[in-house]
Amino acid sequence: MDGKINEAPAIGIDLGTTYSCVAVWHRNRIEIVPNDQGNRTTPSCVAFLDGERLIGDGAKNQVAMRPANTIFDAKRLIGRRFSDSKVQANMMLWSFKVIEGPNDTPKIVVTYQGQEKEFLAEEISSMVLGKMKEIAEAYLGKIVKNAVITVPAYFNDSQRQATKDAGTIAGLNVIRMINEPTAAAIAYGLDNKSDIVGKINVLIFDLGGGTFDVSLSTIEEGGIFEVKAVSGDTHLGGEDFDNRMVDHCVQEFQRKWKKDLSGNKRALGRLRSACEKAKRILSSTTQTSIELDCLHDGIDFSMRFTRAKFEELNMSLFNVCIKTLENCLAEAKMEKSWVDEIILVGGSTRIPKIQHMLREMFNWKELCKSVNPDEAVAFGAAVMAAKLSDDGDKSFRELSLVDVTPLSLGVHVIGEIFDIVVPRNTPIPKKNTKNYVTTEDDQSSIKFKVYQGERARSTDNHLLGTLTVRGIPLAPRGVSKVSVCFDIDANSILTVKATILDTGMSKELTITNENGRLSKQEIAKMIKDAEKYKLDDIEFKKKADAYNALEYYLYNMKKKIKEYNVNKKLRHESLKKIEKAIADTSDWLENNPGAPTVELHGKKLFLESVCKPLI
Ligand code: AMP
Repeated sequence: MDGKINEAPAIGIDLGTTYSCVAVWHRNRIEIVPNDQGNRTTPSCVAFLDGERLIGDGAKNQVAMRPANTIFDAKRLIGRRFSDSKVQANMMLWSFKVIEGPNDTPKIVVTYQGQEKEFLAEEISSMVLGKMKEIAEAYLGKIVKNAVITVPAYFNDSQRQATKDAGTIAGLNVIRMINEPTAAAIAYGLDNKSDIVGKINVLIFDLGGGTFDVSLSTIEEGGIFEVKAVSGDTHLGGEDFDNRMVDHCVQEFQRKWKKDLSGNKRALGRLRSACEKAKRILSSTTQTSIELDCLHDGIDFSMRFTRAKFEELNMSLFNVCIKTLENCLAEAKMEKSWVDEIILVGGSTRIPKIQHMLREMFNWKELCKSVNPDEAVAFGAAVMAAKLSDDGDKSFRELSLVDVTPLSLGVHVIGEIFDIVVPRNTPIPKKNTKNYVTTEDDQSSIKFKVYQGERARSTDNHLLGTLTVRGIPLAPRGVSKVSVCFDIDANSILTVKATILDTGMSKELTITNENGRLSKQEIAKMIKDAEKYKLDDIEFKKKADAYNALEYYLYNMKKKIKEYNVNKKLRHESLKKIEKAIADTSDWLENNPGAPTVELHGKKLFLESVCKPLI
């Protein structure tokens, strides 16, 4: 079918820093898929317990108990080098360990099944993606293969490639990767507006749990997206608002009870979740209260919280958001009045004060908020998935969606000059070729360094990889030619091919590990590992089920025997026989907490063989 992927259904995944969301075209509409807890977003969190791996809500709920073995924020690591200043700064904030692996790749260290295990960020993200896949499969009752995954607009090639690898490791066929703001605009159908004449300017204001991203894009007739400017703060979001509330409560506790609870981790954890809950309530009512029994030193804590107080505590952070937005407008060289649509994304945009400040800034313009802000990105990704896989109706298939390169791509040439091969904002997919000549007599090889960025000096940009072509026929300088072809696919992933024009010999660039990109073999190994973890999870569940079944049977039999003893329903020796079997099995269970599944099954069968004929 027109080269489209036929396997259905294809899903859209918003792989977020703190939460992820999955959506699918189902029953003639886009549906956000709830997880096994009934939640429409799932924490991007993985925890390693003694014999078990938890992903999502289960992992997040136990973080206070096993901080070193609970991994979150993999998105802040993916596709980055260990020495990256952002990685170094983030490491200070994490409770889990990150070490330097080969080729400057960061590795996350956890203890799993009694052993130290190292994971790449791709593997952790693949576990989250695998969970989202499972959530969709449970909902649809079908195996899901194809997915559209979203990434921030500012992600460079290595971050995109690493995210794609994570999808592959999770057993997904990533049919497209799109920018988060593009997905949000698609969710509002802005790409498909019949009344677009010329261009419209769209502001996407994305304030989530841990990050703030603002972007200005233009959408042209035909659905051509052009990201004009992106700005943001990688450490500003709902969690900071929660923290301000927690600090205030700690001060109140100190004032009222003359006691400092700031060293009591458990109390702080309880306070943080109560504050987050109160914050959500304050988005719809003007006051609420926080009540916590026995918070610290046996003292119950109770406090009234008003929306006004919440706003006062966080005003400086809200102002940072507005300032960042102003910088973004300035960078895009856009006046406020030129903005046609303002789209709200991320749970924290539900805060009334934020909405008020935005409307005030844009002369009381209406905001696009009809799609749940924490679901808009996954919604748009699912629209794209439906379109690409023919799941949707005709109107979807007729959409033409074009993304553009967010940054220029080119090579380093003599004099440290960045020679652009594909300029920024070029609609993709795109293939551009440029010819280069030797710069020395009898030069037999050329090393091409591929960069991404907007700076004139190549080394000021981001190095994507190096490609060396050898075997150039010897000749005076400037005679032998090598053509360099930049091929960017629809996922914004780049392949560079250099061909010696005289001989036709060519070489392709595999962006090396120095950029965090994985080889095919490494991916294959990780897929195998992922399957192993899945099997471990299944085995753990089987064992837990067998343990519970035996324990439950024991409990029931103990109850029954008590009854029989009272009613004198059984002969004495039968009773003794059963009581002995129960006592033996109870002892065995207590002394063998880690017994294998078969033994647990065996013990239950034995007990049943004693009890069933008599009871
Ligand atoms: P996201 O990462 O987009 O899922 O956003 C999650 C953040 O949104 C968390 O910090 C939540 O506490 C916050 N959030 C969700 N709902 C609300 C609400 N009604 N009012 C204020 N903040 C909210």
